Amino acid sequence: AASGVSRVDLDGRPIKPMTICMIGAGGFIGSHLCEKLMSETPHKVLALDVYSDKIKHLLEPDTLPWAGRIQFHRLNIKHDSRLEGLIKMSDLTINLAAICTPADYNTRPLDTIYSNFIDALPVVKYCSENNKRLIHFSTCEVYGKTIGSFLPRDSPLRQDPAYYVLKEDASPCIFGPIEKQRWSYACAKQLIERLIYAEGAENGLQFSIVRPFNWIGPRMDFIPGIDGPSEGVPRVLACFSNALLRREQLKLVDGGQSQRTFIYIKDAIEVVLLMIENPDRANGHIFNVGNPNNEVTVRQLAEMMTEIYSKVSGEPPLEVPTVDVSSKVFYGEGYDDSDKRIPDMTIINRQLGWNPKTSLWDLLESTLTYQHRTYAEAVKQTMSKSVAS
Ligand code: NAD
Ligand code: UDP
Repeated sequence: AASGVSRVDLDGRPIKPMTICMIGAGGFIGSHLCEKLMSETPHKVLALDVYSDKIKHLLEPDTLPWAGRIQFHRLNIKHDSRLEGLIKMSDLTINLAAICTPADYNTRPLDTIYSNFIDALPVVKYCSENNKRLIHFSTCEVYGKTIGSFLPRDSPLRQDPAYYVLKEDASPCIFGPIEKQRWSYACAKQLIERLIYAEGAENGLQFSIVRPFNWIGPRMDFIPGIDGPSEGVPRVLACFSNALLRREQLKLVDGGQSQRTFIYIKDAIEVVLLMIENPDRANGHIFNVGNPNNEVTVRQLAEMMTEIYSKVSGEPPLEVPTVDVSSKVFYGEGYDDSDKRIPDMTIINRQLGWNPKTSLWDLLESTLTYQHRTYAEAVKQTMSKSVAS
């Protein structure tokens, strides 16, 4: 459907092909967005990143049907004079670049703050000065903790959605103290959101801000010792996948009582495409993008992944599949956590008429099938090597 058929936006108007400057295109979300844009639209992508492994399959060979519509630029936006030129050449800039793994927030707080605030500043400035539209990726973590988390454990108000549902235009941002460096990321993201909002209000910048709520799927992060550092700590999907692949226990931080809503990456990418192609509906808005129906505790997630992985791999689960670990041991000093994250969907529904589709079970089944197919053999080989030596 990439050519020939004329595509229309939500208001029935033909969509003109555009050039998109995608910063952080080589990451998890970027790779899925590039795939979608190449296979379903006529748009061009200038893909900027320091890595290209996750989009290699879109760049080579140059006989691919979309060759010529995607161009990779290996650059670090911290120090590269090509950035402004690439933004000027484009109709739209999408900024995905960030340090965004919780293990880094309390152990590398300076890198985290620089990456999420300082390094994003020139991107905002070039868009504003050159009258270019910006879609900036923030995070659901800007909400921090729920109001309900401060109520007494047994308070009936904890069951009242008014105390936990997160609304873009009404909920406060509630972070822990400065010594809990976990919040360095959320705080940096909050400040760049405020700056973008102010550029819109004072200088007319056309922007949309996306707050992802735990998007997961194939190509997320890395498997330690296989396609990332052995000592690295990725986000929960990759941590649990790694343990399942190695037949080790899944580690539940502080008992795994925190709650999350997980959304399938492919559902989320659909609404990003709607934002790209419906600027009149998307500009000036902050959007929660999540699946409020897929809520579990981290402990429940571990149990579900254990059951599904066993089905997918044909291997029986461990007798005791999980083990509790304190956050201090797992993440180090200064870790803290969001208790619960339910996205309010009113604004995204009203502006873009979108709803997520995939259940947690289905998205874990397809993701763990991918993990097994991609990594099981390599993990077995490294494990037999380390036993032999
Ligand atoms: P990711 O780490 O896979 O992707 C980020 C990409 O940005 C990486 O490929 C990285 O190499 C690149 N990058 C970082 N700094 C760069 C620099 N200075 N110059 C050039 N490239 C640079 O992460 P992701 O999950 O794809 O997340 C993308 C965005 O979405 C981030 O801003 C993140 O904060 C936000 N987000 C994601 C989720 C989620 O559920 N996946 C949740 C909340 C927020
Ligand atoms: N977590 C866990 N075990 C792990 C990795 C993460 O219990 O091996 C927990 C973590 O403490 C948090 C949740 O899983 O409560 C989600 O963590 P993730 O790193 O995916 O990111 P977050 O949603 O906190 O941004």
